[in-house]
Amino acid sequence: MIVQENKKVHLKGLDSRNTQQWVEDLGLEAYKGRQIRQWLFKKLASSFQEMTDLSLWLRDLLAEKAAINHLERIRTQVSKDGTEKYLFRLVDGLHIESVLIPERDHYTLCLSSQAGCAMGCAFCLTAKQGFKRNLSAAEIVDQVIQVKKAMPNPDLLRNIVFMGMGEPLANYHPVLEAINNIIAEDGMNFSHRKVTVSTCGLAPMIRRLGRETTVNLAVSLNAADDETRDLLMPVNRRLTLHSLISACRDFPLPNRRMITFEYVLIEDINDHPQDALNLVRLLSGLRAKINLIPFNPIPGMDMCRPSPEKIAAFQEILVDKRFTAIIRKSKGDDICAACGQLSGEEGPGDKGSRKGFHLL
Ligand code: SAH
Repeated sequence: MIVQENKKVHLKGLDSRNTQQWVEDLGLEAYKGRQIRQWLFKKLASSFQEMTDLSLWLRDLLAEKAAINHLERIRTQVSKDGTEKYLFRLVDGLHIESVLIPERDHYTLCLSSQAGCAMGCAFCLTAKQGFKRNLSAAEIVDQVIQVKKAMPNPDLLRNIVFMGMGEPLANYHPVLEAINNIIAEDGMNFSHRKVTVSTCGLAPMIRRLGRETTVNLAVSLNAADDETRDLLMPVNRRLTLHSLISACRDFPLPNRRMITFEYVLIEDINDHPQDALNLVRLLSGLRAKINLIPFNPIPGMDMCRPSPEKIAAFQEILVDKRFTAIIRKSKGDDICAACGQLSGEEGPGDKGSRKGFHLL
């Protein structure tokens, strides 16, 4: 039974089966559920009144029993490179950000899964603000809907990555429900091959994700030995590299898929040739693609980005050992939309970069 006393159901968070069930519990025909989902996910309706092929009394009944939440778009900043950062306000006044990244012939949307983050990574701005709360499935899916509504050509949005604020695998159920609506044919209809969940390394949840979905996995590795990783990522003190890599080795990889390993390069901390060699050893035998992310400066943090020569030398060691290793260009860093720069507030980074963007 999905209907709760005095509590409205958030329909964007229900999957196909549960929507059907909810509709039937109300005594309606099953096809009404399909109609409602069409309106929500294809026509991007924001109210029941827009659902003009449903009778008036039904629209009123739905409005009484259910809610179509939507995030309030506060601001959109556009970077020189075309990256757009969306700031949304949640019903309780908290803020989150989503980042729309232009690629050659399509767009990628980077979603937040939590307001703030509890993982405490030493190099990440989101971590500095601490954990506020988990997002609901509806709030996660609604980021896709609101950004699509703002795009001149929404069909060009093809890729979804859970690389915004928060640790998706620490908010497992809502993230899974959101993924289901993102890839469902009667939902947002994205290909499961175009959805990627990125994690700081919650090994048991990686195993579960592999059992329960067919989406891509990305792992923020950032160090190839426990000592350095303990320092950078507190999660490693309880879930060591050994448990992380063994969960990755067991992760089901259909066809020619690979696991993406993200490695933020930080000067003098994890950028030595020996670190690259350790990485080669750690990932040997894994179908792995390595994304090297030059550290994006965070105000008030004394870590630095290595020189371009050092970054290139690090990459060369990996490529020599036959790994696919690319240096990820930082997109949107002039508007603090690059990896690790999302704070969900108008922080010092925003104020310092006013020249590089305009507001939509
Ligand atoms: N919690 C998840 C999702 C966030 S992804 C995860 O850890 O994977 C955010 C990505 O940005 C991670 O790969 C992280 O390593 C990277 N990142 C964080 N801070 C950064 C910084 N200052 N510069 C460059 N990359 C950073």
